[in-house]
Amino acid sequence: MSQPSVLIAGAGPTGLAAALLLDMRGVKVRIVDSALRPAAHSRALVVNPRTLDLLAGTGVTERMLAEGRPVRGVRFHENAEVLATIEATSVHPRYGLTVLSQARSEALLTEALDARGIHIERGVRAGCVGQDDDEVRVALNGASDGEQGYAAVFAADGARSDFRKTLEIGFSGSSYPEPWPLYDVPLQTTLDRDHAHLMFFPEGMIFLLALDDEVWRIISNMPDPLSRLPGGTVSSEPIWESSFHIAHRVADRCAIGRIALGGDAAHVHSPVGARGMNLGIEDAAAFAMLFTAPGAQPMDALQRYHRERHAVHKGVVRRVHAITALARSGNPWVARLRHVAIPWASHMPALSGRILRTVAGLDHPTPTP
Ligand SMILES: Cc1cc2nc3c(=O)[nH]c(=O)nc-3n(C[C@H](O)[C@H](O)[C@H](O)COP(=O)(O)OP(=O)(O)OC[C@H]3O[C@@H](n4cnc5c(N)ncnc54)[C@H](O)[C@@H]3O)c2cc1C
Repeated sequence: MSQPSVLIAGAGPTGLAAALLLDMRGVKVRIVDSALRPAAHSRALVVNPRTLDLLAGTGVTERMLAEGRPVRGVRFHENAEVLATIEATSVHPRYGLTVLSQARSEALLTEALDARGIHIERGVRAGCVGQDDDEVRVALNGASDGEQGYAAVFAADGARSDFRKTLEIGFSGSSYPEPWPLYDVPLQTTLDRDHAHLMFFPEGMIFLLALDDEVWRIISNMPDPLSRLPGGTVSSEPIWESSFHIAHRVADRCAIGRIALGGDAAHVHSPVGARGMNLGIEDAAAFAMLFTAPGAQPMDALQRYHRERHAVHKGVVRRVHAITALARSGNPWVARLRHVAIPWASHMPALSGRILRTVAGLDHPTPTP
């Protein structure tokens, strides 16, 4: 049996998609994850049309569509009144925005890999020992075989990436000081479950998205969002509550030599826009295409990956940061701007289309080999 040529560090959505798409293109891969089991709770909830397009042909898209439920668009509210609705149903010719928990998306990718005979090695932490013109040497802490050489590493090891740190790649950007509470909570409400809802208050905002017929995901930049839900809405005991901090950062390089960074290892940004997991899956698809392009040598493929993906990452993080800043601001002038601009934008297809294409992952061309 030949040795794997690409090691994938991390079995989150980015690493799983990379393993699947590389294997389907004939590259022998090995995928390891330091965690003993997948995360029980879901961070990402929305699979966007770009992801569904990139995974078409793997069998995963069909299963995501069968299990997920469509979101028709976003409704904006201010002081208990509806400001505007932007419909998203025609953003892509084949696919819409689909609500599916990150845990299920990861499970479907894992099942597709298992069916191809690729099994995640869990409890194995990968670390870079060094690289030269011929290979990258990786230590696998927790594996039976220890240090090995590979043609390339795809480091999908998350926001705190060991590989990014070992390569001393900066992670430039900024973060917001406030914690953002998160709840998955059953609600009795008259809010329409087919739309996501963004509610503005003088002190901040609340985002609501129905996960199923009962449970809603609520995130906010205000301390107690459950006390600010619209009149007539009754919440039960949350099934999950947490809080997170938002940063907007892009790695200064997304490949050095034979090591490429993908997903949160290369970029982090607010969940407003629902891009993190989806952009990571797109990194995986771009890496698989460039690595297997006819005649491509690994070092050239990775250099091209850096050039193309770094530009995409900077653009997406800039746009998501701008949308988040507009949504989060408590400044009365920004609130007035929102009050006027959102209803206006909802009647301007050119403008609302730009916002929707950002959320749908269609704000830049599809990666090509
Ligand atoms: C509240 C919230 C809501 C979100 N909503 C959305 C959304 O709706 N849509 C969306 O697209 N995104 C969303 N995101 C972002 C999304 O969750 C992340 O972008 C996504 O999980 C990134 O995937 P990843 O595979 O790059 O990294 P991760 O999911 O972080 O996976 C990294 C994996 O690497 C492993 N690992 C770490 N170090 C090593 C090592 N040295 N060796 C081996 N394994 C290692 C870890 O155990 C982990 O399993 C949201 C995030 C938050 C916080």
